[in-house]
Amino acid sequence: MSNKLHISYNQIHDSIRQSVDRFRINDDFKPDLMIAIGGGGFIPARILRTFLKKTSRGNIPIQAIGLSLYEELANANGEEKPGTQVQKTQWLNFGASHSEISLLGRRILIVDEVDDTRTTLAFAVEELQKDIEAEEIRNGMKPGESNTVLGIFVLHNKVKTKKRDLPEEIMKNYFAAAEMPDQWLVYPWDAVDIESHTELANKHQ
Ligand code: 5GP
Repeated sequence: MSNKLHISYNQIHDSIRQSVDRFRINDDFKPDLMIAIGGGGFIPARILRTFLKKTSRGNIPIQAIGLSLYEELANANGEEKPGTQVQKTQWLNFGASHSEISLLGRRILIVDEVDDTRTTLAFAVEELQKDIEAEEIRNGMKPGESNTVLGIFVLHNKVKTKKRDLPEEIMKNYFAAAEMPDQWLVYPWDAVDIESHTELANKHQ
């Protein structure tokens, strides 16, 4: 992997605004719920909300989930075989008496900052699909009957061979604000000195 690529807040804000128009997200996908994968998806989801049409219930709600990716060095047989695992560190607040949210019939946009190997996104989709199915069954429906739709919004998709695939129906609603080379992307929320970070980002515009 070559040089790091610095990205500024302004570049992010602008590329989100442009992509909402380019993908006609307000006209075609029309999300009514965002699920942001933390921590990288939080700020992009909030900026995205600025450009999304409100529903009759007001601003599009943003729910948060926490996922962390780690490399597993040994499998169950003790062989040295690297594998990639995702762990839930936070999940939707189902079942809590007052704050239960229903996923059924929603048009849900999963938001993250970067699609690198696609492992995290594939895991998030699988887990959400399980939750949707479980909720359908609890409500006396057949799997798929609620017509809940999942889509994905990422700031950056790295153009590379992915470790995981996403289901075809999800790829129909896959929106990447920008396609990037396989380089390390440095985000402004990780900067200690935001002025020099922004200068570096502007040099490579
Ligand atoms: P995945 O490989 O599952 O697609 O990405 C997992 C996570 O790794 C991303 O959500 C992100 O937090 C982190 N990641 C992957 N590539 C980059 C990068 O270029 N820059 C930064 N800052 N994080 C990255």
